[in-house]
Amino acid sequence: MKVKCPTCRKEGEWFEGAFGPFCSHRCRLIDLGQWLEENNRISGPLTLDHLEDLENTPLDPSRPPESPEGGGGGGLLSISSG
Ligand SMILES: [Zn+2]
Repeated sequence: MKVKCPTCRKEGEWFEGAFGPFCSHRCRLIDLGQWLEENNRISGPLTLDHLEDLENTPLDPSRPPESPEGGGGGGLLSISSG
């Protein structure tokens, strides 16, 4: 079923995508930013800087936040058997 992206009005089968009714991750963030703006009363319009900041923020609770130390070692599900 084709729907229109709420953000950019582009038509496509977005509902079957990973971003819900939005055509892309960015469009979803833009929509999110709009209600964030209403809630937090951000002074000034939403800019790309806001989006990049949002993209770094883990929105999905299922996705664990990246540790600031980095490194990248070991699995996420480490079961210690003893
Ligand atoms: Zn869109």
